Amino acid sequence: MRDPTAFLRQEYDELVRADLDWKLRVLGGPSTPWCSIDGKRVLMFCSNNYLGLSNHPKIKAAAISAIESHGAGSGSVRPIAGNMDIHMELERRLAAFKRADASLVYQTGFATNAGLIPQLAGDGDLIVSDELNHGSIIDGVRLSKAEKAVYRHSDVGDLERVLTGAEHHAPAYRRILVITDGVFSMDGDVAPLDRIAAAAAPHGAMVYVDDAHGEGVLGEGGRGIVSHFRLSREQVQVEMGTFSKAFGVVGGHISGSRDLVNFAYNKSRTWLLSGSHPPGVAAACLAAVDVLEHEPQHVERLWSLTRRFKKAMAGLGFDIGHSETPITPVIVGESARAKALSQRLFELGVFALPIVFPMVAKDKARIRTIMNAALSDADLETAIGAFDTAGRELKLL
Ligand SMILES: *Cc1c(COP(=O)(O)O)cnc(C)c1O
Repeated sequence: MRDPTAFLRQEYDELVRADLDWKLRVLGGPSTPWCSIDGKRVLMFCSNNYLGLSNHPKIKAAAISAIESHGAGSGSVRPIAGNMDIHMELERRLAAFKRADASLVYQTGFATNAGLIPQLAGDGDLIVSDELNHGSIIDGVRLSKAEKAVYRHSDVGDLERVLTGAEHHAPAYRRILVITDGVFSMDGDVAPLDRIAAAAAPHGAMVYVDDAHGEGVLGEGGRGIVSHFRLSREQVQVEMGTFSKAFGVVGGHISGSRDLVNFAYNKSRTWLLSGSHPPGVAAACLAAVDVLEHEPQHVERLWSLTRRFKKAMAGLGFDIGHSETPITPVIVGESARAKALSQRLFELGVFALPIVFPMVAKDKARIRTIMNAALSDADLETAIGAFDTAGRELKLL
């Protein structure tokens, strides 16, 4: 008899043969600058915990105290019996931080994109998406019955071409939704959101920005890309983000008008049909917003370390691409070179993973580093020294 599960082993084996299978590393303790990976003490250089908030004492204390006061779980989805005072307070505080009329918190950023995008545009509508948008946007778009168009990466001229072409569509589209990442995570480049919004407006298109890597990094006090470009809520109607990166916890969110939030919480299936954040998570997110409001030094430190690192790496002769953010790719060419560099860095005490084809072009394999505000000056020097040593040994410099 034919084994109906034979494909599982076959497809997995193919990935292993191509060396494309994920080899899970084990973090034996907190995600701090010096951490334990597979039992070795190394400098963390690739986590999304930009500001070190996942170990901030106030944020940890808030989580512990909410577990004591509200329990380990919320008991339900938010629209039924799982909507706690902490969830409501988090949304009020986030909206105030974002200077928006309202915010809505989802379980994750992925759940936000998957739950909201297909509701904002459906049958008879058009979604226009940057070609390098994150996978969770791509999946959200796939769940929509809208027609789809892709424009060349951050190419506003190409976006205008698509939007102008859409004017001639018959029957006329009911709605048009333009979606872009705020910061693109492979190269660290920032979407030209001001020009995207200007291109969308004359066509009556809504603009949706996924600012997962801009939260806590860009804008005034880390308020994100909408603040960075000083745009209004009339220009960018949906600002989406995550608590899983610079905020150091987990959770997705949107900010915009009260109408947007009222609509989203009645329509987003991931929000309606999936359990709400445990109290400890909601309280930790709330404390993270509080820390960002009251301790601007973390964002400042992140940028000062970023500038020093980029300058030193370029000075050594590495190709660090055109990043404008604390994501610094170290581009080395073929996959094998990126893997060798990552391996040697690990031996020298720096943890940064290679990013290879198919995530980036075949000749653009890289180590993707992400700066962390919690690194000391000495830690930064140690990491730069390791890149110097490994780069010379592998004849990359
Ligand atoms: C990380 C990321 C997400 C997913 O966020 P989670 O909260 O981790 O689910 C969505 N979009 C972009 C652009 C991201 O980088």
